[in-house]
Amino acid sequence: MQKEVFRREERVLAIAREALGGEAGQCDASAFAVLVAEYEKLYRQSRRLVTMGDRMQQTLSNLNRDLAASEGKYRSIFENVTEGIYRCDSAGRLVEVNPAMAAMFGCGGPEAFVAEVGVLHRIFSDPDDFRIYEALLVSGDARRYEARVCGPGSDALWVEISASVVAADGAGPGSVVGVLVDVTERKAMIEEMCRLARTDSLTGMWNRGYFMELAGRELNRARRKGCDLALLMIDVDHFKAINDTHGHDAGDIALVELARLFDESVREVDVVARLGGEEFAVLLPDASVEDACAVAARVARAVRAAVVESLAGPLRMTVSIGLASLEGPQDSIDSLLKYSDIALYAAKKNGRDRVEVYRRSVCPRRSAEHGPACPDGGEG
Ligand code: GH3
Ligand code: MG
Ligand code: MG
Repeated sequence: MQKEVFRREERVLAIAREALGGEAGQCDASAFAVLVAEYEKLYRQSRRLVTMGDRMQQTLSNLNRDLAASEGKYRSIFENVTEGIYRCDSAGRLVEVNPAMAAMFGCGGPEAFVAEVGVLHRIFSDPDDFRIYEALLVSGDARRYEARVCGPGSDALWVEISASVVAADGAGPGSVVGVLVDVTERKAMIEEMCRLARTDSLTGMWNRGYFMELAGRELNRARRKGCDLALLMIDVDHFKAINDTHGHDAGDIALVELARLFDESVREVDVVARLGGEEFAVLLPDASVEDACAVAARVARAVRAAVVESLAGPLRMTVSIGLASLEGPQDSIDSLLKYSDIALYAAKKNGRDRVEVYRRSVCPRRSAEHGPACPDGGEG
């Protein structure tokens, strides 16, 4: 190859040697002319090569400049974005984090963060979250994976992590680059929105909508496990008169006090809700009719004994309670609500401040006045 390229030069050299090899002073004029012509060509060629070299040099330095500019651009993004960015080697050791990530975890700077934390898994509050994150990476990448994390100088945060394995970079093959977004505030807001959507603003109790959801779950559970399930429908007696006598504000306070009494009178697993106005429901999982009667009696007693202070003097209340229980596969929450409402209506009709049980065969039967409500046999 080299031989081919320099063939012309070799030929010119041969002519020159031949011209010099002749007798002194007898240098062949035609050979000299050839040499001059060839020298001119070589000179032109050399100039072209030098120009080409210059151009290549220019292109190369342009490329280097562009590369430096784009590196600077990415570095500036890395340094200034609000999301945390980290790079780990294949063993999960932190290689680099950006200032936003260090700040997110209450650390003085990126270097301090890398030195203090060392390995990425230390920021995960729950080891299971880290295992899932790793599994996601193995199967491709982690996209907006939500996890609870904690750093050297920060409270626990909720973050969304997007990360993937990169073939090779400064941290070596199999290293990981990830982006962390602090979603603590958003999560708290969503949780608060859910809470507001589920609760009654006056009493803080579950509202009807969420009660239906929870009750549906309990019904499925009771069916699956063959357990008892009972429902109490509670309505304050003559509440309108309470409002009229003591004022609407006092009525509100009374409703809040009732919510507290109901909560105190039932177990943690029971679901208490304000269905609307002065009407409440209590769902009692794993409670037989007898158990539910005892709870209802306890609730009625607690309300009867309570005194709510109002500007118009002490305020006393009583409640009427309708009770229905799960009996067969045909029952639903709607039907239990309907049956307990029928029993409640009977309680009102039969004098208030009492419990009535809805029974399918003879429904509803009378309960004792001012109970211990619905003891065996007689009152349901
Ligand atoms: P009964 O014994 O038949 O249930 O009579 P009652 O007066 O309790 O029933 P009624 O349905 O006639 O009246 C219910 C009252 O409850 C009327 C309504 O103004 C009042 N009420 C409903 N929601 C609220 C509330 O959030 N705050 C207050 N203070 N009163 C309420
Ligand atoms: Mg009422
Ligand atoms: Mg009512």
